[in-house]
Amino acid sequence: ESVVNRIAAGEVIQRPVSAVKELVENSLDADSTSINVVVKDGGLKLIQVSDDGHGIRCEDLPILCERHTTSKLTNYEDLFSLSSMGFRGEALASMTYVAHVTVTTITKGQIHGYRVSYRDGVMENEPKACAAVKGTQIMVENLFYNMIARRKTLQNSADDYGKIVDLLSRMAIHHNKVSFSCRKHGAVKADVHSVVSSSRLDSIRSVYGVSVAKNLMKVEASSCESSGCNFDMDGFISNSNYVAKKIILVLFINDRLVECSALKRAIEIVYAATLPKASKPFVYMSINLPRDHVDINIHPTKKEVSLLNQEIIIEMIQSEVELKLRNAND
Ligand code: ADP
Ligand code: MG
Repeated sequence: ESVVNRIAAGEVIQRPVSAVKELVENSLDADSTSINVVVKDGGLKLIQVSDDGHGIRCEDLPILCERHTTSKLTNYEDLFSLSSMGFRGEALASMTYVAHVTVTTITKGQIHGYRVSYRDGVMENEPKACAAVKGTQIMVENLFYNMIARRKTLQNSADDYGKIVDLLSRMAIHHNKVSFSCRKHGAVKADVHSVVSSSRLDSIRSVYGVSVAKNLMKVEASSCESSGCNFDMDGFISNSNYVAKKIILVLFINDRLVECSALKRAIEIVYAATLPKASKPFVYMSINLPRDHVDINIHPTKKEVSLLNQEIIIEMIQSEVELKLRNAND
């Protein structure tokens, strides 16, 4: 059974960055305002996520890492929604099958916190009382220690660290009311350091720099009744002065960071046709739609989404982007 669990867990947690994403989403779900990430050896040695959220009650610790145990599902419909970012309580449990997980947490009004370690979906010891400030700290150590082949494919720690920095940069610009940091273990300087800002453009400036932020234009679109689909989108797209080698599409759907290759391709096509010299844009988009219109791909990493009325939505976004680019060109 443990081999089966490990293989399933290795599907959910494919790389260090997948663990970071799950941990940070949990911190966001816990209403944190500050999330700090420390990474050692590209995440294989250590991933530590500390937040100032509502914490975990001592009595909930024994089942925290049981598969399919979640505090977030309220009804069947939620299974198909992205509104609570978690999905079926699989992430933490998965991590315990492929790493050593230690949780330190304190809930509001308590004078001390608790620390406990997990292995293979169960608590290794009774929670021990310990000093704690506020919120939760989760340490994931020796990721994939029991998956030799996986470890071998992940030998480039700079590459994995880069993916983690990229993830946190993306999350930081969307969640501009939360401060994020990410650093290598032992480093003084953080590689992502966002402060709470009142506007999204400010947060883009602080994370991606002035050179990106100064070349952005606002985009907005929403559905009309007659189209039969129901969504709204707002975001920023780069203008002709922004020249890069690779498109960056930072896409949030119902506040969840996702990938949508069809949308990415559609945007690239518009740029190639309108701004061939600046055809690798920076694009940030936040799309909101009824939660039963979003489908999480069957794949356990839940990254690629598909949307109800996807073609219509993509076409409407395309024409908004095209309009903005043409107006800016005139
Ligand atoms: P899910 O997020 O789908 O519920 P997870 O395995 O990611 O499943 O987390 C399991 C449970 O652990 C969550 O439902 C939540 O109750 C609790 N939890 C995990 N991380 C945190 C955190 N940082 N702060 C508060 N609660 C947390
Ligand atoms: Mg979760």
